[in-house]
Amino acid sequence: MKVIILRYSEIFLKGNNRSYFEGALVENIKTALKSYQYKMVKRSARYIISDYNDQDEQAIFDTLKNIFGIYSLSIAQQVDSSMDNIFAISKTMVEKGKTFRVVCNRADKTFPLNSMEIAREIGHMLLDWDNSLVVDLHKPEQIVYIDVRENGKTFVYNSIVKAVDGMPVGTGGKGLLLLSGGIDSPVAGYMMAKRGMVLYAVHFHSFPYTSDRAREKVFELAKRLTKYCVHLTVECINVAEIQTEIHQKCNESYTITLLRRFMMRIAQIIAKRQGCGAVITGESLGQVASQTLESLTTTNAVCTMPAFRPLIGFDKEEIVTIAKKIDTYETSIEPFEDCCTIFLPKSPITRPKVEVCQKLEARLDVDGLIEKALASAEIFKF
Ligand code: ATP
Ligand code: MG
Repeated sequence: MKVIILRYSEIFLKGNNRSYFEGALVENIKTALKSYQYKMVKRSARYIISDYNDQDEQAIFDTLKNIFGIYSLSIAQQVDSSMDNIFAISKTMVEKGKTFRVVCNRADKTFPLNSMEIAREIGHMLLDWDNSLVVDLHKPEQIVYIDVRENGKTFVYNSIVKAVDGMPVGTGGKGLLLLSGGIDSPVAGYMMAKRGMVLYAVHFHSFPYTSDRAREKVFELAKRLTKYCVHLTVECINVAEIQTEIHQKCNESYTITLLRRFMMRIAQIIAKRQGCGAVITGESLGQVASQTLESLTTTNAVCTMPAFRPLIGFDKEEIVTIAKKIDTYETSIEPFEDCCTIFLPKSPITRPKVEVCQKLEARLDVDGLIEKALASAEIFKF
């Protein structure tokens, strides 16, 4: 019988943690595989997926590869444990004319041979069966893995594929992701989901100055992120009036800084309403004027909850590499305007001061503007 073996890292599993970790992992697997037929059972630090349609195998495998908490995967044949059965299936796992080695693990201590003996014996049987095969213990072209389990079943397979690893989403609290249409924020969300965080997103737009297509782009990013973060709700907030007010009443060089402080304030209100314990941004030190230490300090000054900036020490190129890997890059580079790109100051300040911001904000009805912006909320689930 063909099965998919799914292994998870055990390093986080101490005491009560285990059922919490496993419960979240199983739930996420079920959600991700909801459109397929299959059975899943647990066997020591593994889950075994079986009874799926053959034509779904690759799609199920690829889906599992992206679920945080899964360490590695193998497509295997499961047989009743006997040397004859193991040999019969091992024959189907080797390509003739190539070097190979057999790697065996024996969990079933009642099996008559130990792991060394099984590996040696199956190796010999394969050599006797086909004389174009050659054993190479150091750099084999192919490996036959044999895993004799406690329940009288043995798995035989050729490869162990590394999955994304990380922690199951749901075990790391809940965070509010500030999701723009750019390259960085989807990557920031991915990084925190990888540590087990459930995400909820807020997107600021400036309709009618920003278009529906800019928003569609953000939805497409959200959809792509659900491959990793399971579910994602995006709350869209209109900041057009805030931007207009800032533009009319405050110094031009401070417009971005002031807008970012508004964003942070609004984000925190939404975070509290949604039970999030942190806000997450895609900021990286020094990337643009609004991400100098002074700018980050000024924005952070309105923050009372932890602000996670998982990309803070990353170069753009490193961020792009991850964006490509997680398949958000192509969407992120579509050229639609963002609310930060309208009313763009000629020379944004790189060393803003909190006291100056406070003075400028005194010219605005900060609370009233925030309340109006929050009232514009539109919610989309992915
Ligand atoms: P990104 O590529 O993520 O858009 P960026 O390099 O363009 O980032 P900024 O525009 O300064 O940088 O934004 C920094 C961070 O602020 C973003 O990573 C995101 O978390 C948040 N942010 C910026 N604009 C928006 C927006 N319109 N809606 C929600 N969050 C935003
Ligand atoms: Mg941006």
